[in-house]
Amino acid sequence: GADEALRELLLGRIVDVPDYPKPGVVFKDITPLLADPEAFTALTEAFAALCERHRVDKIVGLEARGFILAAPVAVRAGIGFVPVRKAGKLPGATLRQAYDLEYGTAEIEIHAEALGRGERVLVIDDVLATGGTAEASLQLIRRAGAEVAGVAVLMELGFLDGRARLADALGGAPLDAL
Ligand code: AMP
Repeated sequence: GADEALRELLLGRIVDVPDYPKPGVVFKDITPLLADPEAFTALTEAFAALCERHRVDKIVGLEARGFILAAPVAVRAGIGFVPVRKAGKLPGATLRQAYDLEYGTAEIEIHAEALGRGERVLVIDDVLATGGTAEASLQLIRRAGAEVAGVAVLMELGFLDGRARLADALGGAPLDAL
């Protein structure tokens, strides 16, 4: 069906890079997909369809590849784009959220006034791995007073169980992996 064709198109434009950025990690390189207008357009349309299905008011993209994927979706769907950035990059007043990594912690931020109260927000990123980054972004959305409409990613690395880690923060909202 259409979903299977989309899946084949997208998978055919994602390259596995073993041992990058460090030994034991298989990096999912999406740059061939971005360079292919048919695949990038199909991906954008699929994300935009999710925005309609989940009645999304605003899109949050996660630095850095989430920005590339989310921005054209926002334009296509006719809704606003809001960046979640690594700490220290946003110029205005921010909310900051720390989360655990394999070794140590990381922090991400959102502009405190970027989301309206009760707005339904969809988070978009390329890869869901451990789910730590997406989980922290959902916490920021809730702290900002907005509502979680869901998380949408190009790819989910199922063996890392990010879906389970996200369950509480999603609070019943959908996680879609294209
Ligand atoms: P995590 O917080 O563990 O879910 O990691 C998610 C973030 O790291 C995403 O923004 C991804 O872009 C990136 N990431 C994690 N693992 C990979 C991978 N194997 N290939 C490409 N990107 C990855």
